[in-house]
Amino acid sequence: MHTKDFLLILIIVIAAAILWLGFAFLSPAENAAAVISVDSKQAIKLDLQKDGIYEIKGMLYPCTVEIKNGRIRMESSQCPDKICEHTGFISHSGQSIVCLPNRVIIELQKQEGLQLDAVLQ
Ligand SMILES: [Zn+2]
Repeated sequence: MHTKDFLLILIIVIAAAILWLGFAFLSPAENAAAVISVDSKQAIKLDLQKDGIYEIKGMLYPCTVEIKNGRIRMESSQCPDKICEHTGFISHSGQSIVCLPNRVIIELQKQEGLQLDAVLQ
């Protein structure tokens, strides 16, 4: 085997390992919690396992947040650009929905402590 070939295989293996680690880091969605903050102050923390509709008082406009099947979205907002609404559902920790005019940020964070029964289902 040529040294060149060996290097190529090594690079592919390392790239695959980095990809795998990236997915392993990004994918645990089941235990995410939504932290909603208004004007950089934490307003509420919601469990994504509990479906529901929540009214949020933004800085300028009221908005409605929906949790369904472990995902969250900005169901409706009175803001002019509607970027937050168009973001749609998010479900992975690290993802966020931002409503700039209303200063509302919905961030998904990993929940403390694994819920084993959720994994076993
Ligand atoms: Zn918005």
